[in-house]
Amino acid sequence: MTNQELWKAALGEIELELSKANFLTWFKNTAIADQKEGVITVNVPNTFIKEWLEDKYHKLIIKSLRNYSRDIRNIEYNISSGTLADAPKINKTKDAEKETSAPESQLEFREFQIDKETNLNPRYTFETFIVGEFNEMAHAASLSITKNLGHLYNPLFIYGGVGLGKTHLTQALGNSIKQSNPDIKIKYLSSEKFASDFVSAMQNADIPAFKTKYRKYDVLILDDVQFLASKMKVQEVFFDVFNELYDNNKQIILSADRPPKSFKELEERIRSRFEGGLMAHISEPDYESRLAILKAKAEAKKFNPSNEILEFIASYMQTNIRELEGALNSIIARERFSGRPTALEEVKEILNKNAQPKKILTAAQIIKAVAGFYNIEEKTLFEKTRKKEVVQPRQIAMYLLREDFNGSYPYIGQKFGGRDHTTAIHSYLKVAQDIKKGGRVVEEIKTIRENLYNTA
Ligand code: ADP
Ligand code: MG
Repeated sequence: MTNQELWKAALGEIELELSKANFLTWFKNTAIADQKEGVITVNVPNTFIKEWLEDKYHKLIIKSLRNYSRDIRNIEYNISSGTLADAPKINKTKDAEKETSAPESQLEFREFQIDKETNLNPRYTFETFIVGEFNEMAHAASLSITKNLGHLYNPLFIYGGVGLGKTHLTQALGNSIKQSNPDIKIKYLSSEKFASDFVSAMQNADIPAFKTKYRKYDVLILDDVQFLASKMKVQEVFFDVFNELYDNNKQIILSADRPPKSFKELEERIRSRFEGGLMAHISEPDYESRLAILKAKAEAKKFNPSNEILEFIASYMQTNIRELEGALNSIIARERFSGRPTALEEVKEILNKNAQPKKILTAAQIIKAVAGFYNIEEKTLFEKTRKKEVVQPRQIAMYLLREDFNGSYPYIGQKFGGRDHTTAIHSYLKVAQDIKKGGRVVEEIKTIRENLYNTA
C-alpha cells in the first residue's frame, strides 16, 4: 500500500465512526506525509486540528491504520507549512503518481469510497464474505432477508465478538439490498454515530427533526448497539424510532457484541424488541474457515504466499478475523518493501512481535519486576526512605501501576506504605515528565516492560 492508499483506507473506517460534519472538519486536507519505523507522520493544516486529532481521535486513527498495517506504532501530527490550497500537492509525490497510474490501485481506491447517502462501504459484499460453520446462520438469515424485507425477520439481530464480521455482514446486506432496490432508502450507521447525532439534535433542540429523519428510512442498519446500553436518553429515542419503523414494516438490522439478554442496562421493553425478530450468532472461526478467509484475502490482494505460510497464520491467529487480515497485510507490506518472498521463519517473527498479547498483570508482578530490575529488595520500595536509589524506582513502580495495571491513585498511594494519593499523582507525573524529556528512564521502563510481558 502506498501512504496515500493507506490513509484512504483508514479514513474510510474513521468516517464510519463520526458524523459527516465532524469527519470533514477534522480530516479534510490531511495526508500521510511519511512512514518510518512504524511511525506515521500525518500532515494537518493547522494547530487547532492537530490538537484535536491528538486529543480526541488519536486512538481511533491508530486503530484504523493498524487494521491495514500492523507495524504502525505511533503517529506524529505535523502542521504542513503550505496553505490549504497546497494540500493536494501531497498527493502528487512521485510515489503516489507511479501508483495511481496503475489500474489495479485505482480499483482499490474506489473500493473505499463510502456512499454518502447510505453510508455503506462498497468494499463489504457477500461475494467477499467467506461462509463457514461459525457464521453460517447469520449469513443465511441475512440472505433470506433480502428477499422479504421488513416482514420475515424483524429485527435481524446479529451478535458476536470483535472482528468476527458483523460490520462486514450487515453492510454486505445493505449493499445487496440497495443493488436490487436502487430506490430504497437505506441507512447504515454505528450506534455511536446515532447517539452523537442525537446529542447534537438535543443541543439544537431539534429532536422532532431527528426522529423524522430516521422515520423515512426503509432499511435501518444500526451497528454495535451495545453502545446504547447505558445511555438512557438515546435508548428512549431509539425505542421511538424503532417502533415507528417496525410498525410500518421497515426492515431493521442490528448488530452487537453480545446477545440482548446479556445487556444489563438495556430497558426491558427494548430488549424484548431485540429478541422479537431473529437472533443470529457469529462465533469464532474454525481453522478451515480461517484458512479459507486468508486464501481469499491473499488472492484479492494478488498476493501468493506459500500454503505453509497461510497455514501457519491460520493456526496462529485463532479468534479475530480482523487480526488475521492484519497479519496477512503486514506480511504483504514487508514483501512489497523488501522485494522478496518472506520466509516462514520471518513470518513467525513478525507475528510474535505484533501479537503482543495483552497480558493481565498483577500489582505484585509489577512491583517485583521493578525491584528486580533496580536490584533492590521489594520491601525497600515501601519504606519511607528518601534515598535516591529508592526514590526513582518507587516512582516508576507507581507509574507502572497506574499505566499498566490501571490502579487508582489512592490504591497506589496506599500500596506504597500508606502514602497519600497526591504522592501517587506526583510520582506518576514526575515519571511521565521524565519520559517526555527522553533519557535513561525511557530505556529502563522499556526493559522492565519487556521483562514483564515476555515472561510466561
Ligand atoms: P466486527 O464488525 O464484527 O468487529 P468486521 O466486520 O469489521 O468485524 O470484520 C473485521 C474484518 O474481517 C473486516 O475487514 C472484514 O472484511 C473481515 N471479515 C470478517 N468476517 C469475514 C468473512 N466471513 N469473510 C471475509 N472477511 C471477513
Ligand atoms: Mg464492527
